[in-house]
Amino acid sequence: MKRKDYISWDEYFMGIAKLSGMRSKDPNTQVGACIVSDDHKIMSMGYNGFPAGCSDDDFPWDREGDFLDTKYAYVTHSELNAILNFRGGTLEGTTLYVSLFPCNECAKAIIQAGIKTVVYSDDKYDGTPGNIAAKRLFASAGVKYYKYEDTGRKIELDL
Ligand SMILES: [Zn+2]
Repeated sequence: MKRKDYISWDEYFMGIAKLSGMRSKDPNTQVGACIVSDDHKIMSMGYNGFPAGCSDDDFPWDREGDFLDTKYAYVTHSELNAILNFRGGTLEGTTLYVSLFPCNECAKAIIQAGIKTVVYSDDKYDGTPGNIAAKRLFASAGVKYYKYEDTGRKIELDL
């Protein structure tokens, strides 16, 4: 008789998105993304961080102050990193799992990359201008999105 407690596809991919987020050095928000093909193959992953070669020790993680002294001037979001990390051809028709609903800048990249579905976990910026803009872009471009349903499963890994 086969095992019944194995993780679902949604748990698997959201789990990988969240695991990727754990790589982020951002002291406030760790976001991870995982892009998946129609046939359940992982195409790419990403997390929020500074561009390659830009040291985490040289750039600021601050959220307030002069723009040039904040992370906003330098950080790349997980969704865009996942798109840019993919070097293998096309992401047309894929699904993106992400731990936080995409901002409007990532929404543009998601649409332009041909990603057709977004599965998100948290939507803590719901109703803010960037969030509203992202949803407007998705609706217009025909990108579907739905909230990942928490299963309550806890996974512990021995590393
Ligand atoms: Zn973003």
